[in-house]
Amino acid sequence: MASGSHNDEFDPEIRNEINVEEDEIDESYAPDKDDDFVEYNYDGMELEDENWEFENDFISGSEGVGHEYEVVREDVTAIHMTRVQEDGELSEYTSHSSCHSLNSGSDSDGISYHRYHEFDPNMQMDRPALSIGLSFKDVNMLRMVLRQYAIRNSFNINYLKNDKTRLTAVCSDQTCNWRLHASVLQDGQTFEIRKLIDSHNCLNINQGENHMASAAWLAEKIEARIKMDVTVTPKVLCAEIFRCYGATVSYLKMWRAKETALQKIRGSFEESFRFIPSMCKTIVKYNPESIARYQLEENGSFKRVFVAYSASIKGFLNGCRPFIGLDGTFLKGKYKGVLLTAVAIDGNKQLFPLAIAVVEAENIDSWLFFLHWLKIGLNGSEFTFMSDRQKGLVEAVNRVFPMGYQRFCMRHVYANFQKYYKGDQLRDLFWTASRAYTRSECDTALNEIGRLCPQARQWIESIPGVHWSRAYFPEWLPCNYNQNNFTESFNKMIMDSRGLPICDMIDWIRQKMMVNLQSRRSRSERWDGIVCPKIKKILNDVRDQSRFCDLFFAGGDEYEMVAHAETHSSEDIS
Ligand SMILES: [Zn+2]
Repeated sequence: MASGSHNDEFDPEIRNEINVEEDEIDESYAPDKDDDFVEYNYDGMELEDENWEFENDFISGSEGVGHEYEVVREDVTAIHMTRVQEDGELSEYTSHSSCHSLNSGSDSDGISYHRYHEFDPNMQMDRPALSIGLSFKDVNMLRMVLRQYAIRNSFNINYLKNDKTRLTAVCSDQTCNWRLHASVLQDGQTFEIRKLIDSHNCLNINQGENHMASAAWLAEKIEARIKMDVTVTPKVLCAEIFRCYGATVSYLKMWRAKETALQKIRGSFEESFRFIPSMCKTIVKYNPESIARYQLEENGSFKRVFVAYSASIKGFLNGCRPFIGLDGTFLKGKYKGVLLTAVAIDGNKQLFPLAIAVVEAENIDSWLFFLHWLKIGLNGSEFTFMSDRQKGLVEAVNRVFPMGYQRFCMRHVYANFQKYYKGDQLRDLFWTASRAYTRSECDTALNEIGRLCPQARQWIESIPGVHWSRAYFPEWLPCNYNQNNFTESFNKMIMDSRGLPICDMIDWIRQKMMVNLQSRRSRSERWDGIVCPKIKKILNDVRDQSRFCDLFFAGGDEYEMVAHAETHSSEDIS
């Protein structure tokens, strides 16, 4: 009785085709996750730049350098040889594979020999090559290899014998010569290829769906890909499998494969929570000076976890302005929590992730937890925080960072404002007041708002200017941001990870940050001078505008500047 892996059971056609007796995926076997497949699909780290664009600041879009990975096929070398079997039968052998087969060859008499060699799943599974004498740790491994081999070489296999002692596989085209016979060695486990005719004279190569690419096989191949982006469609996955393996698979089969992979990923949710303590330990062990802390509920179940890597903390303290954006975003998946994030801006006006936490909800307690550990990590308190004034956040910042400043995202403040006070004029004046660099400019706009609608002015002035107007931002922080876009962009950048089990998600973000920082590092090595490109652009703009200014010397280091055209002061250049 056939007992194919449970994923094959839905498709009787496949089972008939490959005639399996036992085609379970060996769970203990973990091939090296098809590195080339992962890389091929990897989209590079351009997200951070492409996704964020400030509406009103000096920021422009992406200058990201594309990072494409291409899968390069090895050169194919065909090896032909004959081999005299013990029984006197002559077997022909043609390998269309590359270096893996070079363990076989011909001796000086022209008689082929082979060196006993063992199949190494870590090195050879992706592009397996077959040769006489090649051994496999057991029959399951051999079956997996044959499946992969058939998919890679676009043909289907039928098994004439397939049991615990012998395996005979032929090409599914009955007229074709391709044939492999393997049998068990004395240990009762190891299988060795005894006969092999590795050439086809069939015509069915590359026609229609490849039945060797079963849903179970596909699920394993796409798992890593889905972990990176749970929203990827079966259609896209089909195209990628075709490009990587040359295998055509139906939409339906891919849909089933995706469901299987998702189930496996989600199935590890509960398990993932159990790993949080050891994950925190590991983070601190391998990244000393990182902060990784968790909190459990009274019944011992997971409550919260906070992570700030030492690289982030050091990078922030040494290379960023003391300006931190805070935000929360809902998680998908089984655990309906919230991801809290702290994001800074680096010297080139790019996102610089500082810390993350997974908490039960956004409330004062969870923000207190987050800010408490953030403060310990940063070992200081004079920072400016930008937020959307979330529930509990303003008070939590006041409590943990009493010396800190708070800015409110003006887009959110305006969203509230315009609920009560509508109209284009009020809108424009509102933004003029918020963007003004001088108090007189700000006050003029406020006066005008008061003239149009006294209540609107009152509403705005109920929020102290230090929270919302550039004119009132403290001078010691040369940073003109009045919107929280950058933090939201970070959330968008990590959106694909939000459905993953918690440890996978945290590690996914870590990896994204690592690749991101490395790509910036290598880009910055090509910069000339010490001024970052985006800042250079601002300086050039300021220089251009200065043509419309006159400078009058006032003695000492002081000058008086008179502008003859509309100019912007550009404080944000440090
Ligand atoms: Zn064939």
